[in-house]
Amino acid sequence: MNPRSAVDLAQALIRCPSVTPAEGGALALLARVLEAAGFAVERPVFSAPGTPDVENLYARIGTGAPVLLLAGHTDVVPPGDEGRWTHPPFSGEIVDGVLWGRGAVDMKGGIAAMLAAALDLVATRPDFPGSIAVLITGDEEGPAINGTVKLLEWAKARGERFDACILGEPTNPERLGDMIKIGRRGSLSGTLVVHGKQGHVAYPHLADNPIEGMVRLLAGLKATLLDAGTVHFAASNLEVTTVDVGNPATNVIPGEARAAFNIRFNDLWTPATLETEIRRRLEAAAGNAVRWEASFENTNAVAFLTEPNAFVRRVQDAVEAETGIRPALSTTGGTSDARFIKDYCPVLEFGLVGQTMHQVDERVPVAELERLQAIYGRVLEAYFAG
Ligand SMILES: [Zn+2]
Repeated sequence: MNPRSAVDLAQALIRCPSVTPAEGGALALLARVLEAAGFAVERPVFSAPGTPDVENLYARIGTGAPVLLLAGHTDVVPPGDEGRWTHPPFSGEIVDGVLWGRGAVDMKGGIAAMLAAALDLVATRPDFPGSIAVLITGDEEGPAINGTVKLLEWAKARGERFDACILGEPTNPERLGDMIKIGRRGSLSGTLVVHGKQGHVAYPHLADNPIEGMVRLLAGLKATLLDAGTVHFAASNLEVTTVDVGNPATNVIPGEARAAFNIRFNDLWTPATLETEIRRRLEAAAGNAVRWEASFENTNAVAFLTEPNAFVRRVQDAVEAETGIRPALSTTGGTSDARFIKDYCPVLEFGLVGQTMHQVDERVPVAELERLQAIYGRVLEAYFAG
């Protein structure tokens, strides 16, 4: 295995069955490779009541500034029914120029390309001015409690600081080069309960049907847009995800109705201001006619934006030089660990094409892995050129 080849390294990583929270040998493999190249490697394990212990990795080479942080996760989502895979999910088989396996794009391929590029730099320019730090968690696809959040706190307590970060999540919708993510929307989930009075359908005057109140409240929530979007963000959106009364009978008016919703919101909102707005809308829609209560889950998924600065443009330039495509700067999609890293340094995300992530038959063309390594190589060269 040549660790300066993204393909070799990705293949070796896929063969480690690191379904969250299992380490699966993936971090041990990276530790060996990084140590052999001269990195100082630490393997902190974090735990919390009610969640599995999680292994993580932090490595660094160099002592000076600037410090570029390369971040990612080696854990993967479960393969599902292994019999439905064309090639076994942890085989890392290469067939007709395509590398198959769970994590190929999300995100062992991205990590492999990043680290292969970093090892290349270290080998060919051992006196490069600055430092490379590597932060890899095994807890991104799970509860995300014993991973990046604690690893960043742990690094900070040791005096580590970073000037910029690239997170290698798959960001491209169609082709390598399509999209860099410079922010993420926030996510807030809530539940709504409407209280009525159970009764006989033939005697509705003796009952109070909560479904009517629920319809009214949900219509009130969706009646007007939350906002019109911002320069870098789409409009915030509330989606009702379920409505339940749990009533199997056709001759009974139910006593209670429940709904759940999730809001993906832009940088005009915080979870607190959003909760206030939702409660205001519910109150207005309910008036005195509907008895309701709402509750909101705690969320650490706030919206954030990395202003398109010189670092962002440098990565755009590197992508364009390798692919011929000027990548769009986007804040679309779900949440990622970038929402934690942004509290420490400017962070952007760029990786592979995301089309097969979390699917059966996750896979990546070998040529794309090689090209991604070349892109990261250009980023490192430009970053440490000063
Ligand atoms: Zn991922």
